[in-house]
Amino acid sequence: MSENGKLSKFWLHELTRPAFVDWMENEKHPVAVIGIGSIEQHGPHLPLGMDSLAIQHYIHEVAKRSNSVAVHPCFPGYSPHHMGFPGTITFSSETLMGVLMDTIGSLSKHGMKRFCVMNGHGGNVQIMNLAMRLAKRKYNVMVAAPQGPTDTELAKTVAERQKRHWDVHSGPTETGGALALFPELVELSNLDDWEVTLKMDPKLMEFRDPDRPDYDLVSQVYGACTPPNNIDFTSTGVYGKNDPRDADVEESKKRFEERVSFVTEFIKVWKTIPTPKAFQD
Ligand SMILES: [Zn+2]
Repeated sequence: MSENGKLSKFWLHELTRPAFVDWMENEKHPVAVIGIGSIEQHGPHLPLGMDSLAIQHYIHEVAKRSNSVAVHPCFPGYSPHHMGFPGTITFSSETLMGVLMDTIGSLSKHGMKRFCVMNGHGGNVQIMNLAMRLAKRKYNVMVAAPQGPTDTELAKTVAERQKRHWDVHSGPTETGGALALFPELVELSNLDDWEVTLKMDPKLMEFRDPDRPDYDLVSQVYGACTPPNNIDFTSTGVYGKNDPRDADVEESKKRFEERVSFVTEFIKVWKTIPTPKAFQD
């Protein structure tokens, strides 16, 4: 499973101890690719584990292409806003923080100095960022969460659609991702009589128009007025104003490839830099 530092299996939990030791000793700059996601309602048509299932695909592919290990330490994430819908499991912020800190802390004890975190769920962002900052200081390790690419035509198309339609949860963008990675878990027929269920104050709805000259400002007012529990603004659990069935699977496959390549390249470049003195114990 690892010969002279070259892995042939990439999930940490699938390696034997000697394989892990061989890799740690012979890979010049070993990287752990840690993924977090969620178990939460994803509308009537996507699996509850959507975000974690997707991130597993991402981290495994990145690990494979960069001779790293992939670690998915927990399935749930921070999802209290989805608890109005059945099936959701939320960790408290402290639990998710603890999982991340303990995962990084444990591997740092075995000599790991570089951690690359990938996140599949918006609700985890702030906790992930704080954990990264605290772990860096507490365990004297490098922790990165590369985001990108953001400047390709495809990235801009996806970002524009998400902005315009608030296509950020269970809409066509996410549905495309599911159809690209695990189509067998998608039940599109549950959307047969689907219609937009996003309900906000009509004035607020007008704020979601990126063509407005004051969009920068009013979109933040929209954010400030978004209720804490999503069952209060969408009865289906789908956020956006566009139809999830408009998912473009080919686009999603390309976006997967683009993001995986970006993070893989990040790790490659990162490995050309010797571990800075400050991180050497
Ligand atoms: Zn999701």
